[in-house]
Amino acid sequence: MRAAILRAFDEPLAIEDVPMPDCPADGVILRVLACGVCRSDWHGWTGEHARVRPGSRMGHEYCGEVVEAGPQAGWMPGDRVIAPFILACGACPDCQQGHQTICEHQIVPGFTAPGAFAEYVAVPHAHNLARLPEGLDPALAAGLGCRVTTAWEALTGRAALQGGEWLAIHGTGGVGLSALILARALGARVIVTDIVPERLDFARGLGADHALDARGGDAAARIREITGGGAHVSIDALGFPDTIRASLACLRRLGRHVQIGMPTGHFATMEIDMLGIYSGQLALFGTRGMPPWKFPSLLAMISSGRVDVRPLVARRVRLSDLSAELAAMNGPMPPGVAVVTDFSA
Ligand SMILES: [Zn+2]
Ligand SMILES: [Zn+2]
Repeated sequence: MRAAILRAFDEPLAIEDVPMPDCPADGVILRVLACGVCRSDWHGWTGEHARVRPGSRMGHEYCGEVVEAGPQAGWMPGDRVIAPFILACGACPDCQQGHQTICEHQIVPGFTAPGAFAEYVAVPHAHNLARLPEGLDPALAAGLGCRVTTAWEALTGRAALQGGEWLAIHGTGGVGLSALILARALGARVIVTDIVPERLDFARGLGADHALDARGGDAAARIREITGGGAHVSIDALGFPDTIRASLACLRRLGRHVQIGMPTGHFATMEIDMLGIYSGQLALFGTRGMPPWKFPSLLAMISSGRVDVRPLVARRVRLSDLSAELAAMNGPMPPGVAVVTDFSA
């Protein structure tokens, strides 16, 4: 089968013919219908992600059709499914309490196992999979795999965002735009920041109440002014020191900061205003992924038409276009994400 393999950091991925995977006893083999291209893939491609090394196959935002099912999989050939990027074991105490995203035995295809930038992918722990709703375009479903699910858990799980509250979103990449769309559907008022005017316009078109150009450096002060004291909830969707500091500084007292962007490489540690956190009595949440039992609530929002995820997918590309998509992330990107939908070329 055809697959895209990382052979050297920052070099084009190699499109290779590799053996078909073996089917796990509690898992399935999927014919990949679509796989999203993500900032996390870029981190892997540049060598900043500890789990991506030469020889790795990335791709963690996928949906597909079951072509083979293990005896304990619970799925049948022909079923169309969508995967969370975290495949939890299902048996440990954390999993049994519903906290699958912190499962110590989790498998993450694309990082800790071969991923879905390939014609087929093995998916162990198939109890994590959700049925792809009838009529949901696979490219849109793949686009949910990481960013929309993460945003849904950040807003509804970690921050417990309420209707009428002010939400600030720092960075309008895929997960930032996802948070915007979902927060609007939850009835929150939303301010986004970015440094790319085209992306700010795009966010306005998706219903942002305010879209601020952060290049002036005073985004936090402007958010406090617009909201009459600060946002109730603020998300850093990038993982950069400037946006994290702005996210903390834009909060009102008792505000909740959610760290969605992954601070990697030399941003893994940074200085933040701890006195401001103390005196503002702020809450800080880290978040990563979504427990799979939340798929029904998220998919219902989409199937019912309350959330339109179509604007998130900007481009449908071929497997051989992946390298160009990753290279483009070295600079400012236009809005929307790319999804690989053609694995034959
Ligand atoms: Zn577990
Ligand atoms: Zn992702």
